[in-house]
Amino acid sequence: MDFKVAVIKGDGIGPEVVDETIKVLSKIEERYNHKFNYQYVLAGGIAIDKTGNPLPEETLNVCRNSQAVLLGAVGGPKWDNPSAEVRPEQALLGLRGGLNLYCNLRPALLYAPLRNASPLKDSIIGDGIDISVVRELTGGIYFGERKLEKIDDEEIAYDTEKYSTSEVRRIAKIAFEIAMQRNKKVTSVDKANILESSRLWRRVVSEVAEDYKEVELNHLYIDNATMQLVKDPRQFDVIVTSNMFGDILSDEASMITGSIGMLPSASLGENSFGMYEPIHGSAPDIAGKGIANPLATILSAAMMLRYSFKLEEEAKVIENAVIKVLEEGYRTGDIMSEGMKITSTKQMGDLVVERI
Ligand code: NAD
Repeated sequence: MDFKVAVIKGDGIGPEVVDETIKVLSKIEERYNHKFNYQYVLAGGIAIDKTGNPLPEETLNVCRNSQAVLLGAVGGPKWDNPSAEVRPEQALLGLRGGLNLYCNLRPALLYAPLRNASPLKDSIIGDGIDISVVRELTGGIYFGERKLEKIDDEEIAYDTEKYSTSEVRRIAKIAFEIAMQRNKKVTSVDKANILESSRLWRRVVSEVAEDYKEVELNHLYIDNATMQLVKDPRQFDVIVTSNMFGDILSDEASMITGSIGMLPSASLGENSFGMYEPIHGSAPDIAGKGIANPLATILSAAMMLRYSFKLEEEAKVIENAVIKVLEEGYRTGDIMSEGMKITSTKQMGDLVVERI
């Protein structure tokens, strides 16, 4: 099958980790007779240097005309002046908004060979942690009405948490669809004992659950969820939650896996369109040294195959190749531990390719 992919290498280690990912995808093309048609476009610091704009119109157009976007990372000290009018991060917000990516998906996966990287005890980790956090990305308190006003001598500020049934329904559906491909369990996180918006959230999620009888649904309050995540993370399969609660929970979930160079993410919109990127940044401190871990980006590409192209087998093949490489003791510097074999960015890419 043929697929159209917009590729944004970005800044810092972005080009290095994306190059290894393209190598892995080439092997998938060869083995499964697919064709990924790439269009390379600029965003971030490099786009500022070349065009004066962190997100040139052409980039947005090419992304809109593709089936998925693969992104390395953007930003770096060269463009880090907070008072500058154009900044690399504007590209990320512009892409999310411009492509209507309303669902952020972050798997928090602790591979058994990397268990030492987790701050949690061995008895809690068991045979590994595998949670998918589904966060609503374009609604809620981050987008509701906000104001700072002065009444008499007092300053008063407020932000509004607001959700509609259609916003909750579409994110809940994604969570249940993902659970159907996993262990068929959804935990919806809210604060329905206090917030009206959470009561609506809970009601709509329960309604959507009616269409997914095979999936077990439970509800947790956010305060309890943050505790359960470190107390017994293996109870979770898919967690679905609002923009603000998801912001916090997805970071907590990534933290328990311990290693930033391993974690992929997806931001999904309508019709299986998605943008796929590692959760780490452009790591300017190691850029150009050939030592960055490309696995988070390679695993992001596996998510692209699964969610945008519905190529489950191909996605699994990549993920299994990554596990094999780790089991065999190969490590980039960020996940290195005693007795393991240190590899460069390129070697890590090659090792994954060889195991596909
Ligand atoms: P960072 O994620 O780039 O780096 C944090 C630390 O983790 C660094 O020590 C880095 O060397 C290490 N690290 C990150 N990814 C790694 C990998 N793949 N392999 C090995 N080590 C890795 O975060 P930061 O230093 O806060 O930000 C650097 C720049 O990236 C900033 O300009 C920031 O704005 C930008 N940023 C971009 C994104 C994005 O593009 N989505 C996300 C976060 C930060």
